[in-house]
Amino acid sequence: MAAPASKAVATTLESIARTKPAYADLVKTFSPLMAKQAELAETFAAQDIFVPEVDAARLGQEVHVLAGISCEHWIPQLETAAKEMLPLLKEMIPDEAWPGKKDCTDPLDGATLARLAEARLGGDQKTFDDVAKTMEETPAPVLFAIAENILGPVLSGVAKKLNKSLSDVPWDKGHCPICGSLPSIAYLSRKEQLGLDQLVGGGGKKHLHCSLCGHDWAFRRDTCPACGNTDSKTRELFYAEDAKHERIEACQKCGTYCLCIDLRECDPVPQMDAVQLGLIHLNVIARDKKLAPMVKTTWNSIES
Ligand SMILES: [Zn+2]
Ligand SMILES: [Zn+2]
Repeated sequence: MAAPASKAVATTLESIARTKPAYADLVKTFSPLMAKQAELAETFAAQDIFVPEVDAARLGQEVHVLAGISCEHWIPQLETAAKEMLPLLKEMIPDEAWPGKKDCTDPLDGATLARLAEARLGGDQKTFDDVAKTMEETPAPVLFAIAENILGPVLSGVAKKLNKSLSDVPWDKGHCPICGSLPSIAYLSRKEQLGLDQLVGGGGKKHLHCSLCGHDWAFRRDTCPACGNTDSKTRELFYAEDAKHERIEACQKCGTYCLCIDLRECDPVPQMDAVQLGLIHLNVIARDKKLAPMVKTTWNSIES
């Protein structure tokens, strides 16, 4: 059985701090936040929370599971996540950018969180701009980051519950079948134990890891998740000579990249959200090559 995600987050961060000392300070800063997110996701997955039906016909039409679903179903979980996450987030955000006033400890009520969650899922930037204006002009990107940090663990809990019912439904798209977001990272699977006569599969199957809900799904190795480009002449790999298992997969057709880790070279297997903290140098290389990340994350937005 796999280790619980919160344990895997801690192990991954410890390993980064040990093997890549340049990241040790960052690990220290972000550990409490990331541990709390993983812990909340586990708590929600163990609760009797609202989970939508998986409709194979809808998925067949490329409509992800949460499309058009009201986030008011998750107001209790959003409130719990806000209560736990806001004090940690407040320590990382300058007072002048904090929503409401600098002393405001609970700037977002459940109904507002549900509204922002729906806006995030629907790609509706205007709602973030509108809500930000009502909060002492907090910058909309700050509000967006706060909302994502609160929504993420709730959707991760939902994704964990949906995992089983999604395993039989075919999905070959580059965006998440649950929440519709693009991947923050990809990985090649480890050798798997097949069970019969101790047969061992070769591994190396490509999976994408959702940037918002953390769901993992299989994807073709020869294709750009963002634009579907399969032309090998316009797709490129970059990596550091001493760490070939950590690489940048770039697509010249759409100008984006996604990081990819070969898990056959990793021991122990890293947790896929936490591992990104130790790969900022690859994002810097990609930026120098004028490539844009498929989706913005904390780790690919940090200026070096
Ligand atoms: Zn997702
Ligand atoms: Zn592309």
